[in-house]
Amino acid sequence: MKIVYAASEAVPFAKTGGLADVAGALPAWLNRLQHKAILVIPCYKTIDRAAHGLRYRGSFDVPFNGEIEAAGLYEGVTGDRHETPVYCISNPAYFNRNGLYQEGGKDYEDNAARFGFFNRAILEMCRFLSFKPDLVHCNDWQTGLVPAYLKTLYADDPFFARTAALFTIHNLAYQGRFDPGYALRATMLPHAIFNVEGVELWGAFSFIKGGIYYADALNTVSDTHKKEIQTEEYGFGLHGLLRTRSGVLHGIMNGVDYSLWDPEHDPYIAENYTPHCAGKKSASRKEAMRRLGLTGEADSPLVVIISRLSDQKGFELFYDIRKAIMERDLMLAVLGTGEPRYHQLFDDMARESHGRVKINFTHDEELAHLLYAAADIFLMPSRYEPCGLGQLIAMKYGALPVVRETGGLADSVLDYDAHGPKKGNGFTFREYSAGAMLERIDRALTLYRDKNIWNRLMANAMTADFGWESTAKKYMALYKRAINTKKKPGA
Ligand code: ADP
Repeated sequence: MKIVYAASEAVPFAKTGGLADVAGALPAWLNRLQHKAILVIPCYKTIDRAAHGLRYRGSFDVPFNGEIEAAGLYEGVTGDRHETPVYCISNPAYFNRNGLYQEGGKDYEDNAARFGFFNRAILEMCRFLSFKPDLVHCNDWQTGLVPAYLKTLYADDPFFARTAALFTIHNLAYQGRFDPGYALRATMLPHAIFNVEGVELWGAFSFIKGGIYYADALNTVSDTHKKEIQTEEYGFGLHGLLRTRSGVLHGIMNGVDYSLWDPEHDPYIAENYTPHCAGKKSASRKEAMRRLGLTGEADSPLVVIISRLSDQKGFELFYDIRKAIMERDLMLAVLGTGEPRYHQLFDDMARESHGRVKINFTHDEELAHLLYAAADIFLMPSRYEPCGLGQLIAMKYGALPVVRETGGLADSVLDYDAHGPKKGNGFTFREYSAGAMLERIDRALTLYRDKNIWNRLMANAMTADFGWESTAKKYMALYKRAINTKKKPGA
């Protein structure tokens, strides 16, 4: 099967969140399963083409914005066995910026043109490469128009006659909503698609709705989130359409790329370890304390947060309990960037903490590795969480997650009190409240002192398998369903 995996970010080229982890891993697994998958991303200025071995392949025309624009194409390979061809589509006017989607907390005003161009260029690239895909796998709003193009301007194009589209929802809250006049002009899509039966969402032109409405099959990244997004509470206004399309909507939990995230081989941690010698985590803990300047008791549990600091992630729950948290015997390390109000919140906590709370407001891949290894407890109180990779990585490193029971967090973290010492691998709370979170943090802090139970839970967490192999097989099955649906519309 020939597959184009289209995403707006992918490890190791460009990353703001979990989508990059997934896009960096899944295509390689598809190739290991003997399929032909290629990865395509925009050629951002921040991608060091020489360092990644990306070579210029040529340029091709893209009808866009009422004219013919040129796309440059850079080609390389990725995956830990270099099994996946990667293509970066360049257009300096759109992608020569410091950020991927925004700068200084403000989205780029021409994102509709930037990603609209990327979407149409993906299809023209297939023609340029003579790569006739059986399926284009699109991800989130930034690639939501590929299915819309396939069902409209390219519907009668013999090159794409057999090309189906799968649309994966990683985050429904980001909808790519734009002024319709501007978006229609730029994308050159037929005006008729600006319709409730099409891309219209509350009077705006929405890229994500294009994906959800026009793709042959849909999925999100956990089974629980699949159910959640069909409800008003989690559906962000799209629950009605998602319910209508529930027959083609699936839930597939993301995997973790253990070739990058495994304490046994991780080059960024102080000492490598396995479940049999997890005590060696203490070397990373010492190193993290030194690097961050943490001054807690040597045996105080280290609580770690590694996250985008956005409303989704539930940090507002801290406002009511920050005093209580500071009274506990713990250290807290936060690595994250995002909304100023959370920077302020954690800054204030750090200032009042006498060195027991340290904050790092950067995106720092290497420090993230060290902190996962150093952590005893990994905190992720998300309001909603489609899958969540942080808790999966934390478990592999023997840091027990304290999470809210939602989406992929509910599907991966098994609370000790509910599941017992044989299955428990963390702590979960259901109610979105500061009290509920504090109660589970306290429970974790108490059990931390009971080394028998704690070591048992650590072993459970570290040996849980969230690898890609079974996930990639589930995607293959879903691709086949999408292709069949395309052949037999309405099936
Ligand atoms: P989301 O995709 O919503 O941001 P996930 O938990 O699915 O959340 O994925 C987050 C990914 O980004 C993880 O790989 C996590 O380690 C990483 N990450 C988040 N913030 C930072 C940061 N400040 N520095 C380094 N890595 C980060």
